Amino acid sequence: MHQSTEKADVVIIGGGLFGCAIAYYYTKHNPGKKIVVLERNEICNSATSRAAALVTRIRSKKYFIPLSLETYRVINDMETQLGESMDVKRVGVMHVAASENSVTALNELMKIAEEFHEPAGYISNESAQQKAPWLKTDEIITSAFMPEEAYCDPYLLGTFFARCAKMQGADIRQSIEANELILDVDTVVGVSTNSGKIFADAVVIAAGAWSPIFAAQAGIGLPMAPVRSQYWITERNDLFKNSCIVILPDAQAYARPEGGALLFGIREKNSLAVSPKKIPSDISHFIFSEDKGMHDLSEVVDSLARFFPLVYEIGLKYYVAGFSGYTPDNNLTMGIAPGVKNLFCATGDVGAGISVAGGVGLAFAEMIAGKPNPFDFSFFDITRFGNIDPFSEEWINKCALARSQKKSG
Ligand SMILES: Cc1cc2nc3c(=O)[nH]c(=O)nc-3n(C[C@H](O)[C@H](O)[C@H](O)COP(=O)(O)OP(=O)(O)OC[C@H]3O[C@@H](n4cnc5c(N)ncnc54)[C@H](O)[C@@H]3O)c2cc1C
Repeated sequence: MHQSTEKADVVIIGGGLFGCAIAYYYTKHNPGKKIVVLERNEICNSATSRAAALVTRIRSKKYFIPLSLETYRVINDMETQLGESMDVKRVGVMHVAASENSVTALNELMKIAEEFHEPAGYISNESAQQKAPWLKTDEIITSAFMPEEAYCDPYLLGTFFARCAKMQGADIRQSIEANELILDVDTVVGVSTNSGKIFADAVVIAAGAWSPIFAAQAGIGLPMAPVRSQYWITERNDLFKNSCIVILPDAQAYARPEGGALLFGIREKNSLAVSPKKIPSDISHFIFSEDKGMHDLSEVVDSLARFFPLVYEIGLKYYVAGFSGYTPDNNLTMGIAPGVKNLFCATGDVGAGISVAGGVGLAFAEMIAGKPNPFDFSFFDITRFGNIDPFSEEWINKCALARSQKKSG
């Protein structure tokens, strides 16, 4: 392949949702600037296209909420720009509490919804049954419904960002692999790729599960590890047709309708986590589970069946798995890279990247342009765990544990 040397204002490594979202906002706010997105496969091929894509607005971690609200806002903008609908499914979310701990957590969540002026109300078990006809309600102590919550097609979300970014001048290159950061002492000055070097004033690592490899080149131990998320899609059944999204913290599970079927995910007892160095460049070559997650499901199925008894007999048609970047505190890991100039890390998505993509895109576009970040990223600080080795077994296991203890959607 011909090797070239060129100059851009910004280079983004990774054309997943985060990379495309940053390119969208940057080109919108900085017309005339040259931004190149490098994607070694096709855009959004990895975590993004595999997501269950709950676009959760109301969370116990309040500082995620403004980021998610921006996602909802920008979807409208992009639909107008492209003259197309993204067909976001605004079916609402029901949170179900069947233990004292979950009731306390739900009450807290309701206070947060009120604080953010988001509609939310407690509902009876009869109403819960109507909103999710497959749900067994006898053990429910309290449930609440938030009608504005939605899920989307994650691939469409990513490609809407990419298409709008292209219309605004972004140069999105597929089948181009970033090899290494080019450094000049303590400053990142570009990226070498399989087709040449691109020098740039700013470089963003948005390489999903592979991000720690690039951060390490700049001497940064990026605190995250690729941890598997997995879910199943059942065969179709009329009971699922008009269901809302359901969050079941007492089963550490969530569910949503999917084309007349039910998509449901669990937090397995032992989450699979691997070193970023061991993941092939094409994620479709990675075997996430030899038995399509059946062993993991069997370990928690009784707990899920308390709310979804049909799980014992319904046929499971699809198994989907992918990697998200998890951290021990389940907070994102992102921001301006510490100790290196001109480097940014849009990484460590903790399984919430679809929901927060709008805010992440906007935040990085502003920071790259030298403006203040409009959001509070203090909880996402890359240095918060001190010096860590992201490739060590000890660290990877810590991140895996954080996911297996997760209760929210
Ligand atoms: C099963 C599953 C369910 C999920 N469910 C939800 C959900 O319900 N709600 C939610 O909000 N989030 C969910 N997520 C999380 C969400 O998918 C991610 O947060 C989001 O997709 C992250 O986007 P990203 O751009 O960081 O990563 P990715 O989409 O993985 O993109 C990274 C890109 O970088 C590219 N790349 C890597 N190395 C290089 C290189 N050297 N050169 C060029 N390109 C490179 C890769 O090919 C890839 O395309 C889920 C994730 C999974 C796996």
